Amino acid sequence: MTAPTAPPADAVLWQEQVQIPDLDGTDALPERIQTAIVGGGYAGLAAARVLAAAGQDVVVFEKQALGWGAHSRNGGMAIPELKAGPATLRDRYGPLGLRMHQEVNEAFDHLEALIADEAIACDYERTGQLYLAHTPRLVPYLQALAAEHADGFGEPVRFVSRDRLHEEIGSTAWHGGVVFDRTGGLHPAKLHAGLVDLALRAGADIREHVAVTSLADRGTARPDGRFLLETSCGPVRADDVIVTTNAYADGLLPELARRVLPIGSFIVATEPLDAAVAAEVSPKGRMFVNTKNLLIYWRLSPDGRLVFGGRRSLQHATVADAADYLIASMHQIHPQVRDAAVTHRWGGNVAVTLDRMPHVGQLRGAWYATGCNGSGVALNTWLGHQLGRVVLGEAAPPSFAELTHRPIPLHRFRKLYLPVVGQWFRYQDRT
Ligand SMILES: Cc1cc2nc3c(=O)[nH]c(=O)nc-3n(C[C@H](O)[C@H](O)[C@H](O)COP(=O)(O)OP(=O)(O)OC[C@H]3O[C@@H](n4cnc5c(N)ncnc54)[C@H](O)[C@@H]3O)c2cc1C
Repeated sequence: MTAPTAPPADAVLWQEQVQIPDLDGTDALPERIQTAIVGGGYAGLAAARVLAAAGQDVVVFEKQALGWGAHSRNGGMAIPELKAGPATLRDRYGPLGLRMHQEVNEAFDHLEALIADEAIACDYERTGQLYLAHTPRLVPYLQALAAEHADGFGEPVRFVSRDRLHEEIGSTAWHGGVVFDRTGGLHPAKLHAGLVDLALRAGADIREHVAVTSLADRGTARPDGRFLLETSCGPVRADDVIVTTNAYADGLLPELARRVLPIGSFIVATEPLDAAVAAEVSPKGRMFVNTKNLLIYWRLSPDGRLVFGGRRSLQHATVADAADYLIASMHQIHPQVRDAAVTHRWGGNVAVTLDRMPHVGQLRGAWYATGCNGSGVALNTWLGHQLGRVVLGEAAPPSFAELTHRPIPLHRFRKLYLPVVGQWFRYQDRT
């Protein structure tokens, strides 16, 4: 390993490691299509594949380069989780809570099966996840969480006490942990490239660098298409529309944008570690997450780097500022990697909702799925797939459609109050 010298350039490791076809949307659009999909991430592509495979004319509009969004910036942890365990969800939402828990698990199974059945080369491995207590105060909470999943619902989840943690992680910073067997690690941009390939092979038309700029629902009875979409490439009429913009919701549907807080999350990656150092850091190759409100998450990449993500606060931050904090935290937790050069640093947005739950719904007649709250690799892929099936009339909307999706209060002023919320989170994390 080389000693760190210059700071890394802002660049997304995953994006450098994939090739996706150039799908610039300059050809004229057809006058009318069956389904228009806004957003070329996991959700949009999964929806497109189902619809195109059923014989529909489908166009996916991606306003940036394909592979720009959170789908190729994330930590690559496929986690079947909501922010609460199954018993808590049941207490909070009744039978709906249990159905939502089931669907998150179904999303995870769906992703695993899709990767296996379609031979998507995305370095997927069922690694398990280790959720780590950053303070002794949270050990009883983790013990109860493990019992909630394992005893109450028969899930492969177990508590690991501090004296056994060395079997799981090469770090002494933790007071206990919970292992969730049903978690996997993958290369996020390779998964995205695989979904692009599947959607294209099914017959979908994918247009990158084409933004949908307005959307008018013209009523259900029109023979020339129910929706009129304006795009940066011209107008198009569509019978159905699916909006999968997650944290990148823009002015297209302001009422959707108001229901989502885009929160920055940042990642740094080292050069590939010596095999012995990598094995010491993560003897079982787990996905690691800690219990802080402003949580950190980290893992070994398929090529043996330490990939370390999180954020210091809810204040606007540059990638460089965020990276300084992450590198310091990484060295504190894993002094073994102090000599490894940090070669990449980047950021992206996660979609946070008021109730910290995913949401599915219809606005102006268009379907949408949003609100990954940081865990959308498996879930958003499945939500897109299911929305495709809903449009085909093959499935009922996912249970998340039954939740009330409330706007974020004072959304326009979020940059003023989020730093204060972040300070409160940090105070709680410290005390
Ligand atoms: C740093 C980071 C780490 C993360 N780590 C994890 C993790 O380890 N595990 C996990 O499960 N989840 C993680 N996530 C969340 C995960 O990446 C997202 O849930 C997932 O990518 C959402 O997929 P999507 O297809 O819904 O949206 P995206 O992948 O964000 O795609 C939405 C796309 O819509 C496009 N768009 C927006 N408006 C328009 C418009 N008007 N016209 C056309 N296109 C438009 C955007 O350009 C964007 O590309 C992380 C996210 C970030 C940012």
